[in-house]
Amino acid sequence: MPFRFDNSYADLPAHMFTKTMPIPVASPSLFAQNTQLGAQLGLEPRDLSDADVFAGNAIPKGADPLAQLYAGHQFGSWNPQLGDGRAILLGEIKGTDGQRYDIQLKGAGRTPYSRGGDGRAWLGPVMREYLVSEAMHAMGVPTTRALAAATTGETVYREEPLPGAVLTRVAQSHIRVGTFQIYAARQDTHALRVLYEHVLSRHYPDIDDDPATLLNAVITRQANLIAKWMGLGFIHGVMNTDNVSIAGETIDYGPCAFMDSYHPQTVFSAIDQMGRYAYQNQPNIAAWNMAQFATSLIPLMPDQDAAITTFTAAVNRFPDIYNDAYRSVLASKLGLKEVSEDSDTLATELLTLMADEHADFTNTFAGLASGTANAQFVSQDVFADWQRRWARLQPDETILTQHNPTIIPRNHRIAEAIAAGQAGDFQVFDDLLDMLTKPYAPLDDKTEAYARAPSTDERVTRTFCGT
Ligand code: AMP
Ligand code: MG
Repeated sequence: MPFRFDNSYADLPAHMFTKTMPIPVASPSLFAQNTQLGAQLGLEPRDLSDADVFAGNAIPKGADPLAQLYAGHQFGSWNPQLGDGRAILLGEIKGTDGQRYDIQLKGAGRTPYSRGGDGRAWLGPVMREYLVSEAMHAMGVPTTRALAAATTGETVYREEPLPGAVLTRVAQSHIRVGTFQIYAARQDTHALRVLYEHVLSRHYPDIDDDPATLLNAVITRQANLIAKWMGLGFIHGVMNTDNVSIAGETIDYGPCAFMDSYHPQTVFSAIDQMGRYAYQNQPNIAAWNMAQFATSLIPLMPDQDAAITTFTAAVNRFPDIYNDAYRSVLASKLGLKEVSEDSDTLATELLTLMADEHADFTNTFAGLASGTANAQFVSQDVFADWQRRWARLQPDETILTQHNPTIIPRNHRIAEAIAAGQAGDFQVFDDLLDMLTKPYAPLDDKTEAYARAPSTDERVTRTFCGT
């Protein structure tokens, strides 16, 4: 078997996870294999062709399947115990880049942490995560990846019978803020220290051995990550602390969505009724999540009162780090090399006009390079005035095209791919995925349709966790 497993999480104290086998499914069939990602993991295309492996029916040699334990704040409320309820970590592989990667089956059956759930996933969320995570990667956003996806030949019930599926997810790790929180809450300082040391050597090998330094490093990665989301109109939808990766990758694509028309208060998730995770709230929520991470590190500090002071200062720096990153994202989106007061002002003015007119987020910015942005506005003279002042800063065409995707995973396109997949047709998915892996390509007659904003009756305004 070609999978070169090199498992490290399985060597941590046994109460931090439960060894759990995937539960076999009736009739696995692969519909997606990521040969490019496979190559990065030292896998040949033929290694990605065994549906039994990617549905959990066959366990590759060297795998040591387990479900990880964690806790988390969900919509601000503390949940003392969560864990992999529908995901099983097969093991870890060292990639050709020397980096260690988790190989996880999502939808692989019940685990000790499934609570009332069935441990399964249906095809819709599996296709959605595949498409969106691969699009995020193509747009340069740190993210978990999709290695393969299979249908199970079984039915899962989510108010209605739906086709089951399993996603093979690849991540730098699946360690979350909630993984730290559970041991802090249980006053299990030994497990907390072991986890801290594991994270340090695995994700932050170059920093000092000091929880305060780790906190700062995680804050920096989170702030930069959220700035990238904001620059793409991405709304995660469930920024619970159990969905925040310590490695700084985007993780857990549930009800996430990209905005079509721009409005800062946009919310898609059907369960987010208060708008806690609305587009514009994401930086503040990320800072709040970092405060929870800081709290979970305090038991590791010899002087806890001093630690509270240091950690509070660290978390309070989040807005500055985020703002620096966001300003630079916006300057690049305007084709400008340098951040300046002018770039800030122009960005703010454009976003205000876009919000007033519900302009398409992606097509407005992409239109700056192609000269079609004016099509987004009714107030032609207001936009023309903005454009004149912007042109004076001499925007660079290459910077513009490299920072403004033409094709993003639009909700209505994802919905269309899922509907076709449910009917057994994966061509729509394949075609969309192909487009999403080249997000910065100039449009032509063939690809233009993928850049089009949804018409009124195509518009998808609600998304679901899919659990
Ligand atoms: P999420 O909101 O998707 O991050 O999930 C929150 C928690 O619920 C995680 O611990 C999941 O493992 C668990 N969960 C979600 N869906 C299921 C399911 N179908 N069966 C069992 N557990 C689930
Ligand atoms: Mg989750």
